[in-house]
Amino acid sequence: MTHSKVAVVTGASSGIGAACVSALSAAGFHVVCGARRVERLNQVARTAGGDAWPLDVADAASVRAFCEHVPNINLLVNNAGGALGLDRVSDATDEDWQQMFDSNVLGLMRMTRELLPRLEQSGDGHVINIGSIAGREVYAGGSGYNAMKFGVRAITRALRVELLGKPVRVTEIVPGMVETEFSEVRFRGDKSRAAQVYAGLTPLTAGDVADCVVWAATRPAHVNVDEIVVKPLAQASVTLAHRAPG
Ligand code: NAP
Repeated sequence: MTHSKVAVVTGASSGIGAACVSALSAAGFHVVCGARRVERLNQVARTAGGDAWPLDVADAASVRAFCEHVPNINLLVNNAGGALGLDRVSDATDEDWQQMFDSNVLGLMRMTRELLPRLEQSGDGHVINIGSIAGREVYAGGSGYNAMKFGVRAITRALRVELLGKPVRVTEIVPGMVETEFSEVRFRGDKSRAAQVYAGLTPLTAGDVADCVVWAATRPAHVNVDEIVVKPLAQASVTLAHRAPG
């Protein structure tokens, strides 16, 4: 297969990012993958036939070094991020909020700022941000992560306004519950607490979200999919899920 389009996926070493790499590659993109865990990243890239370079979106120098490996680009998937803890505002720590801000918000801005000129130059560019229903609805203990994903929504919408008249589409994918390493990271490696998040229901898979990314990315160049909200059938809202007894 000849690859005519180049996609960059951040946070590609696991979960939704890794699934996007394989789905975009299957859809004909040449994918450039970035994340901090290089061994896992290399494995993902090898399987999909893409390239992998170390990337910490929280570090401006790392973002610049990564982007030097990307001369041409059509699609940027800003996926790197996640939540830390489930603390109420009364118990929140500066460190957790700073770390969430660095990856979910500042990292997204840095990657977009660095690659926007090349996306525009492609004549058919696209930025897809991975938001969350936590950027639409709040919950107790969610304030930090809520703030980040409300932020992603605001940036996505402002960017679309700023790019009006330019050949760059802007999309937000807004998932509900997806079973990945997300909850394990949030609960700092506590696997049993993480498993409880998905107990008694069928969550989305990372592949379900990647399907949305690929669908938005493969519409004709004049079609801007503004946002896709996708949740498991068993989830009605951030706080309301139907679980099998036991
Ligand atoms: P995941 O399996 O924990 O994946 C998170 C990815 O982000 C990893 O590849 C991680 O790679 C990368 N990452 C984190 N900080 C980074 C940094 N500073 N620089 C570069 N990469 C970084 O969780 P996931 O569910 O796939 O999460 C992907 C995105 O989906 C996140 O933005 C998350 O907020 C969002 N989301 C998740 C859910 C859900 O229920 N799972 C729902 C809605 C939205 P390294 O650690 O190797 O760097």
